[in-house]
Amino acid sequence: MAALLMAVVLRGMSARETADLTTAMLKSGERLDLSSVPGIKVDKHSTGGVGDKTTLVVAPLVASFGVPVPKMSGRALGHTGGTIDKLECIPGLRTDLSAEQFRQQVGAIGVAIAAQTAEMVPADKKIYALRDATATVESIPLIASSVMSKKLAAGADAIVLDVKAGNGALVRDLAAARELAAAMVEIGAQLGKKTVALVTRMEEPLGHAVGDCVELAEAVSTLKGAGPPDFAELCELVAGHMLVLGGVVRSQEEGEAVARQGLRSAAGLGKLRQLVEAQRGDVAVLDEPETMLRQAELRPVTAERKGYVTGVDARRVGWAVRALKEATGAHKRICGVILHAKTGDRAAVGEPLATVLGARSSGAALDTATGEIAAAYRLGDTPPPSSKLLVDVLGA
Ligand code: URA
Repeated sequence: MAALLMAVVLRGMSARETADLTTAMLKSGERLDLSSVPGIKVDKHSTGGVGDKTTLVVAPLVASFGVPVPKMSGRALGHTGGTIDKLECIPGLRTDLSAEQFRQQVGAIGVAIAAQTAEMVPADKKIYALRDATATVESIPLIASSVMSKKLAAGADAIVLDVKAGNGALVRDLAAARELAAAMVEIGAQLGKKTVALVTRMEEPLGHAVGDCVELAEAVSTLKGAGPPDFAELCELVAGHMLVLGGVVRSQEEGEAVARQGLRSAAGLGKLRQLVEAQRGDVAVLDEPETMLRQAELRPVTAERKGYVTGVDARRVGWAVRALKEATGAHKRICGVILHAKTGDRAAVGEPLATVLGARSSGAALDTATGEIAAAYRLGDTPPPSSKLLVDVLGA
């Protein structure tokens, strides 16, 4: 399989081969039948970015408006984090749901977030881990088949895809990201699912937090209406499309307005609480997410010159956090970075740009990560031009 994966990375696959691989992966396990759950079921997936904790916000938010969200997610892949790792910061929380538990939970509370298992897309579970270990992550057909096999197995009627483009994404080039979006929309259409793909920019990390537990904490504050503007904007965009496909609003503008209001009124927080309870996690963490980080060792990153932040290299930040996690062992979920300054912000000499979080067991790797985060910052004399988050919308 490792040889096949490398061959696909080097030579690509035709549309037909990609569709056949997706179908084979889908058929490796059960395909959920959610027809007994009332309503239009809507799923979402991101192709992976740095600081991308969107699922943790939009799945409960959209479910709180009565649209069932059956969501199958993955772990960290390459330099990008994984929703399952972030959720597992909650003590006791289970993500290895059986097909029956998954179906029952979506029926009972309208939302479930589960990992691939021996029952559901086991081929993706194995291939995903192998890709991560063999540097065969960045391939359009492998990403498309991995994402779409999970989406088709989870039984939703409609799907919103967030295809990331840029230095922090698995697919850096914008034209290639559009190609990936088109491939996935085509697979969805062929299998009778309404599929919308958004192409969004991933040059600097999303929001302020990168790392499992810090991202979970940021997702909880976003659900309480206190999220960083760039991340809240993405959540509103994705949730808006999900609400349209779910049939509860008529237009994207209305969907985004409903989502924005939902974040202000903390509508999704109660739903996340129900999900954590149903998946046997400790709900107290949602009241005080800081408790997850109590044992963290902190290192500041300060500005060595004054100026404007002209960029924060998302890929470098992602790899720095991953290396720190790997050096840390048992307490790896605590590792991460909080970016105090983002692109366009002004900094004075000595001002904190970021804080790196590690554990005692991180050892010298914490200093290495701190150096990497400092090197990820670019400062200049003039503010950079602003760029839009959303580049393109394809499908449905
Ligand atoms: N998400 C997935 O599920 N698979 C990929 O290959 C990339 C992102």
